[in-house]
Amino acid sequence: MNIDLEIYSPVQQLHDELFDERGLQVFVKRDDLIHPIISGNKWRKLKYPLKQARAENKTHLVTFGGAYSNHLLATSAAAAQFGFRSTGIVRGEEVSNDTLFLCRLHGMNLIFTDRGSYRDKAALFDEHFGNDPEAFFIDEGGASALGAKGVSELIDELTEPYDHIFCACGTGTTAAGIISGLHTQHLNTQFHGIPVLKNGEFLRTEIDKYLNAPAEYRLHTDYHFGGYGKTTDGLIQFIKRFVSSTGVLIDPVYTGKMMYAIYDLASKNYFRPGDKILAVHTGGIWGLLGMKDRFK
Ligand SMILES: *Cc1c(COP(=O)(O)O)cnc(C)c1O
Repeated sequence: MNIDLEIYSPVQQLHDELFDERGLQVFVKRDDLIHPIISGNKWRKLKYPLKQARAENKTHLVTFGGAYSNHLLATSAAAAQFGFRSTGIVRGEEVSNDTLFLCRLHGMNLIFTDRGSYRDKAALFDEHFGNDPEAFFIDEGGASALGAKGVSELIDELTEPYDHIFCACGTGTTAAGIISGLHTQHLNTQFHGIPVLKNGEFLRTEIDKYLNAPAEYRLHTDYHFGGYGKTTDGLIQFIKRFVSSTGVLIDPVYTGKMMYAIYDLASKNYFRPGDKILAVHTGGIWGLLGMKDRFK
């Protein structure tokens, strides 16, 4: 069975008075439409690792994540679709939630582990699957050079030039892929990363690890809203307004923070009139389910 999905990720313009006033054109690349579960950057990051697993006759994907991890969920569905078994090693004590329910429904075996042991993923893999010759290690969040290679293909799909491109950053793999893709295509689009964690400057080291050539890019580290998985009433209000006026679902963990940043920067005249901006919708809308209570 071929490991491939036909990519459906149209570019769509976002209309807003703010953008008209500032003379900006803002577009979204709808990677969230690639697949309902294996969505967005998670499919792009998994594509080449899965091909490698297949080439090495590995039949069992083993990966890692928190209890609300979009990556665990995407891996469970990709494993089911492409004929792998899957195990998710989950950080923290046993819990049940919508994400883990969907992981299990896709056949993923879950192993909960305390936060201390979780830090050493190689040791955990060895402990549980050291004797399983068919087990294939995929790092937390799909972070890898092969992951970045998959993401870089997003740039090949663009049919128009943009002045700016934005994405939300967790491990930085997606950012690295986009930056590499821009470099390969000789585009001088300015890349902007929105770290969703506190003290996001550390991501420079992570991103640079995956780049073949040094690159200039910007990280806007003030849009974490308190840290990973944290949110504020202001961000929730923004998401309600955005979703109800565009029909594009975003979540408070990743794409909500990115979109907020674009609107905020636009309102502060960060861009030049006439600029064309592309926001990458990296998917992950199931993250909303873990935050329902905040929307009351
Ligand atoms: C995982 C995820 C990210 C972060 O991607 P990295 O490659 O880890 O930086 C961004 N957006 C969404 C929706 C995600 O699920």
